[in-house]
Amino acid sequence: MSPPAITGVETEVLVGGRLVHLLVHVTSDEDLTGTGESWWGVPAKPSQPDDAAVSTTAAVIDTILAPQIMGHDPRAIGRIWHDLAHDSYRWGDGGMVMCALSGIDLALWDLAGKRHGVPTMELLGGPTLDSVPAYASLPPLRTEEALCTEIGRARDAGFGAVKLHEIEADTIRFAFDEAGPDLKVMVDVNGHFDPIEARTIGAMLSDLGAVWFEEPVSPMRDVAMIAELGRDLSVPIAAGENEWSLLDADRMLRSRAVDYFQPEITKIGGLTAGLRQSALAELHNVAFCPHNFRNGPSLAASIHWAFSSPNAKWLELPWLPEVLDFPLGWPLPTLVDGHVLPPVGPGLSMPD
Ligand SMILES: [Mg+2]
Repeated sequence: MSPPAITGVETEVLVGGRLVHLLVHVTSDEDLTGTGESWWGVPAKPSQPDDAAVSTTAAVIDTILAPQIMGHDPRAIGRIWHDLAHDSYRWGDGGMVMCALSGIDLALWDLAGKRHGVPTMELLGGPTLDSVPAYASLPPLRTEEALCTEIGRARDAGFGAVKLHEIEADTIRFAFDEAGPDLKVMVDVNGHFDPIEARTIGAMLSDLGAVWFEEPVSPMRDVAMIAELGRDLSVPIAAGENEWSLLDADRMLRSRAVDYFQPEITKIGGLTAGLRQSALAELHNVAFCPHNFRNGPSLAASIHWAFSSPNAKWLELPWLPEVLDFPLGWPLPTLVDGHVLPPVGPGLSMPD
């Protein structure tokens, strides 16, 4: 019997206002299709087309990567990953090419689970945890009224923690008051502060009892400064969504810069690369918390990935105001006591 072969690779861009998805569908002659997702980029500016954030990554898949894997055995995920990474190495081991490769790799892992009729997580060794706690990741809201509404909605939905993307001290204090003693709070400032400001806000977050202070300083990849802040502040530090290769992950973890390591599976090269990075977090005894801000294949893959590592501490579930939704429109997984349960459907399925 001849081995299965890849017969199609298609990109699909979904646009809903400032929210976009770049999906990658890989089809094989087994009559199976796996779907992955590449990083969604940053929202288009008014001067750019709506799909500006993902159109170039889609072109990388369509013109550079997809032609190389047509006819190849879709079961050889590791070989495909290494071939594509080797071929594109001269463009760098991060950036859009690695986002593109991530989407293909995740589609192949989805396909693998569907071929065997099991959750992809089972092919990674099965769940290492019974459940993983989830936090509602609130977008930047900026007003007390909106924070009040969204923290209340997250509490009502069963979350035990919320993450703020606020940068004003008074707004942050207000949100902690709203959260009260029953909701844990993380604060992500996306590298908004210089080191002096980060120390001031970090000291406040220590007093408020924040779970973590995420990407405290600009530039966001200044690992030495993040490590210095981490030594000086008592609030735990989280970062990693802007790191790329295994070498980058090693640099961040080896420097002891972070207490919570947050690689983004749609950027670093998919699950094939992700399994190495989560293992590295285990080696360095650092909590592993997949970064994610989409509700589709990227979230599903992050959940399978989290369950594969005993170091997984939190799952990030994007929490949009009621008037917004991602264009794919998938529902969030049901929470049980604030936790996500292992997925049970074939492939990179979302838990019920
Ligand atoms: Mg973040």
